Amino acid sequence: MSTMVKTPNKEGYFGEYGGSFLPPNLQPVMDEITKTYEGIRNSPGFKEELTALYQDYVGRPSPIFYAKNLSKKIGGAQIYMKREDLNHTGAHKINHCLGEALLAKKMGKKKVIAETGAGQHGVALATAAALLGLECDIYMGEVDIAKEHPNVIRMKILGATVIPVKSGLRTLKEAVDEAFTAYVKDPVTQFYAIGSVVGPHPFPMMVRDFQTIVGLEAKEQFAKSPGGLPDNLVACVGGGSNALGLFTAFMDDESVKMHGAEPAGKSFKTGEHAATMTLGKPGVIHGFRCYLLQDNEGNPSPVYSVASGLDYPGVGPEHSYLKDIERVEYTTINDKEAIDAFFELSREEGIIPALESAHAVASAMKLAATLPKDRTILLNLSGRGDKDIDFIVENYGKEYGIA
Ligand SMILES: *Cc1c(COP(=O)(O)O)cnc(C)c1O
Repeated sequence: MSTMVKTPNKEGYFGEYGGSFLPPNLQPVMDEITKTYEGIRNSPGFKEELTALYQDYVGRPSPIFYAKNLSKKIGGAQIYMKREDLNHTGAHKINHCLGEALLAKKMGKKKVIAETGAGQHGVALATAAALLGLECDIYMGEVDIAKEHPNVIRMKILGATVIPVKSGLRTLKEAVDEAFTAYVKDPVTQFYAIGSVVGPHPFPMMVRDFQTIVGLEAKEQFAKSPGGLPDNLVACVGGGSNALGLFTAFMDDESVKMHGAEPAGKSFKTGEHAATMTLGKPGVIHGFRCYLLQDNEGNPSPVYSVASGLDYPGVGPEHSYLKDIERVEYTTINDKEAIDAFFELSREEGIIPALESAHAVASAMKLAATLPKDRTILLNLSGRGDKDIDFIVENYGKEYGIA
């Protein structure tokens, strides 16, 4: 293993990835966020406040569950799950949204803003904003608003303003563009809360830090079991926040192998997958450098996955770096494998996973089958699947005998 960088350099690079590609007038604002964050990240006040919220509001620590039935059925390695689906709001995103909203408040900002695709980041941020007394604007494509009605209602109930985006394809990319334009107009009273370990420095580092609690807890919980450390970690990778959340605490444990599952969608044809690290090349998107699915001119390619939380043409810079130094192995899971895993976990263990998390379940199942029974796999069950049930009935109901 070559030298591992866990803290990006001053310019925000992990190896050759990351950095900050911004309009000149915005760079000082980003520098101020970096400065404030570095000042308070290890201060007792901030840490204690966030830790108290993790405990009393999110319900941390989340348990580790031994999936005995599923492991037995596969007949290979033993599968364990870190239950981020049991968090308040039902996924890991609340971990970093609380951190970002708390930082925004410390900086004296009045409003947090963000884009959302399926509405998961929007709901988690609206929740944190309600709790901490901040205004919240969520930019969302009109197509997504129509598709994700329950999450739109949730955000509104929580007191957020949902701003419909009417340009272009009216989905996630246009929502990012408009949220960014709104941010540039007033970066003084607003704070742009990025939804994963992506974007310009310091966001990839900061969002990762807020998620690291997942792996820290898991390490302590797993230490009580006979093996002490899990042999393998598995997580799905969209932008990569839940994966780094689990992986970071184990980075220096060389015996622990790490696996990231990317969405292979319907096929490896352009526009039918979002397997960024498997098929992308280094490029720049949304203010940072990373592996990127792109055309010959460097424009981001259209992407697709059955899990809307995974369909991003870029990926976190730290993941890009971890791929190059071969600390993490990135594999792909297609729609069919994810849907099968969705039903398998529901029926074997009584846990309905988010379609994003079902990619991790599928990947862990495949891996387990190749390993002996005395090996262990710990996967990050990043979220619960309630949000996906209407989509499942409509699109897969007949096939799986529920419609
Ligand atoms: C958003 C989301 C993801 C993907 O985001 P990462 O930053 O890659 O973790 C995964 N799982 C769930 C449940 C999500 O809501």
